[in-house]
Amino acid sequence: MLPRDQETGKRVNSMAHIPLRMCIACREMKPLPALIRVVAAKGSDTAELDIHKKKFGRGAYMCANADCIKKAEKKRCLERHLKCSNASELYRQAEELL
Ligand SMILES: [Zn+2]
Repeated sequence: MLPRDQETGKRVNSMAHIPLRMCIACREMKPLPALIRVVAAKGSDTAELDIHKKKFGRGAYMCANADCIKKAEKKRCLERHLKCSNASELYRQAEELL
């Protein structure tokens, strides 16, 4: 049972409207603002960081922290998820965003 809002008496769930996505490195569900989105470029074997999270296409998410980026690099998560040839470049770019 969820707690009720003091004023309205309605049940509240503060997490309800925050979309969650799974980090490809730690496989935890995280709210979008805590993640970096990477999207596969259409018609090529490369991918790019989607900083505004608005690009269409096959995407993958990593936590915006150095641990998860390093872990993803080690496990070749982007390579496996997006089948992209420029993943090593993307890990560098993601680290620069932190
Ligand atoms: Zn993570």
